[in-house]
Amino acid sequence: METDIIRARDYLNEGQLVAIPTETVYGLAANATSTKAVQRIYKAKGRPSTNPLILHFSSLAAIRPYTKEIPEEVEVLAKAFWPGPLTLLLPKSGLVPDIVTAGLPRVAVRIPNHPKTLTLLRQLDFPIAAPSANPSGYISPTTAAHVKQQLGDKVAFVLDGGPCARGLESTILGWNEDGYPTMYRKGVITAEAIENVLHRLPENHKSKTVEAPGMLSSHYAPHTLTVLATDVTMAINEQQGKRIGLISFEKQYQNSLHGIQKEMVLSKDGSLEEVAQKLYAAMHTMDDGELDVIIIEKVPETGIGKAINDRIQRSTQ
Ligand code: AMP
Ligand code: MG
Repeated sequence: METDIIRARDYLNEGQLVAIPTETVYGLAANATSTKAVQRIYKAKGRPSTNPLILHFSSLAAIRPYTKEIPEEVEVLAKAFWPGPLTLLLPKSGLVPDIVTAGLPRVAVRIPNHPKTLTLLRQLDFPIAAPSANPSGYISPTTAAHVKQQLGDKVAFVLDGGPCARGLESTILGWNEDGYPTMYRKGVITAEAIENVLHRLPENHKSKTVEAPGMLSSHYAPHTLTVLATDVTMAINEQQGKRIGLISFEKQYQNSLHGIQKEMVLSKDGSLEEVAQKLYAAMHTMDDGELDVIIIEKVPETGIGKAINDRIQRSTQ
């Protein structure tokens, strides 16, 4: 086994914090069965204790003891999407400390798709709790460098697994009181992809109560004022006189429009997968760029475009 995975394992066994790579974003991990270790996560992130954490496992068999039941639809979803960027809300067993779920009766679980983290998880005899490895409310990290910059002094170790392949937080799915599949957070696994395997289209969670603070209107936000643009020309005109950073979808605007200080085009081929993968890194770069305003171009509202626009929207509030 690689020495960095051994180090990560040893720190986690000691109850320390380790940043881990996943295909979505980097996670801030600790032993999920230790209340003391999990407290460290909340403290390091400045995360409100009302915001529950996702547990990460290496197999469905490992998940079983931490839940009361595994409904049949879970087996179907696991087969189709795990390891992968889908988190499921399941009734928790007594093995899950209350601090993990913020006192809620369900626990969020997933199997992440990253070779290093899967190897690490197989070396541990407990699941790890891991929210995104950023200060609460700030942009999620998609590289080891982002983690070091934001939380470097608060973690024992950063397990470097390269840039995250998918780049957006996982889709969160649960079942409502009538047992109907309900989506709590959009992600690269879309409602349509879930419908394909369950043969029912998940509905969007509507309640006003915050059951998944990833749904909070302000989240994932740069420090710099950020604006979502449907019409880039109009947005640039509205911000004239300011130092403008533009994150555009597929077209480059800098040559035809005046007043853009810095521009990053996310996908010259118009690939939404590429946009998802690069969005947060672009936001980090722009936020470090001494700008007055960051304008982010809206992407087409199809497929994973819905999850991308959802994150852009939240970063602007
Ligand atoms: P993060 O890992 O930082 O992206 O945040 C984890 C997300 O999962 C947050 O939006 C949480 O609110 C959500 N979550 C975790 N556990 C639960 C739970 N038991 N019920 C509802 N949402 C949850
Ligand atoms: Mg987060």
